[in-house]
Amino acid sequence: GLVGKVAIVTGSTSGIGLGIARGLAASGAHVVINGLGDAAGIEAERAGIEAEFGVRCLYSPANMLSADEIAGMVGLAVDELSSADILVNNAGIQFVSPIEEFPDDKFEAIMRINLMAVFHSIKAALPVMKARGWGRIINVASAHALVASPFKSAYVAAKHGVAGLTKTVALEAATHGVTANAICPGYVWTPLVEKQIPDTMAARGLTKEQVIHDVLLEAQPTKQFVTVDQVAALALFLASDAAASVTGAILPIDGGWTAH
Ligand code: NAD
Repeated sequence: GLVGKVAIVTGSTSGIGLGIARGLAASGAHVVINGLGDAAGIEAERAGIEAEFGVRCLYSPANMLSADEIAGMVGLAVDELSSADILVNNAGIQFVSPIEEFPDDKFEAIMRINLMAVFHSIKAALPVMKARGWGRIINVASAHALVASPFKSAYVAAKHGVAGLTKTVALEAATHGVTANAICPGYVWTPLVEKQIPDTMAARGLTKEQVIHDVLLEAQPTKQFVTVDQVAALALFLASDAAASVTGAILPIDGGWTAH
């Protein structure tokens, strides 16, 4: 288990991040959760994790657009929980548009939240991990770190960037007991996927059912959405001592999508 370890999971008020945070807590890690959302809902989640799993759980409101706030999130873990052993960079946003009409501010926000924030959190947490001779950096990238889809230029560029960043950090940290890996999910049924359906309907002139079956699951040979629990299980493996030799890996969990 991960008893006594301290984990930070960005974007853990929803979807995949919430599943990973709960999985880490269930394995005994203290957890810093992070993300946007209404205060009462987040407090209920935080208190629920403490009560259910008997670990400490703190909330950092750090906005991934701010390097200072990201450093503050790592500082909160170190000051209040005495370490930062496991860093899961999961926060992310999506925007779907043909590139000719892609708004500059949306492109920049995706680069900052999906890529720059990963750099800033690693920059803040890696020294803590190196000093302790143990650490786990787990970046939630995407199948779009390996292949592209039309109308997702910013997201695909940012996620390919996360793959390169992950490999570089793995090399820099390799002799310090710190691993860095990227998880590349295919389509997972979360609010992020649900919210892009109307835009994809508009961009491609399709109905909701056509987007689900002909666009989303079309790419996925299993014809099944990946589940949050399956992604969390892979993250838990990467966090374990058994995964000490897995580093610099870009790991698909995509129902076969990137096999073709
Ligand atoms: P989600 O929308 O359910 O959750 C995203 C989380 O990020 C939320 O907690 C949100 O509050 C947080 N967030 C967004 N902007 C933020 C900001 N500026 N500062 C701090 N937190 C912020 O999405 P999800 O589907 O769970 O996605 C999680 C990660 O998984 C993302 O990086 C996404 O790109 C990746 N991913 C998702 C899928 C999928 O099919 N759902 C597939 C591949 C990769």
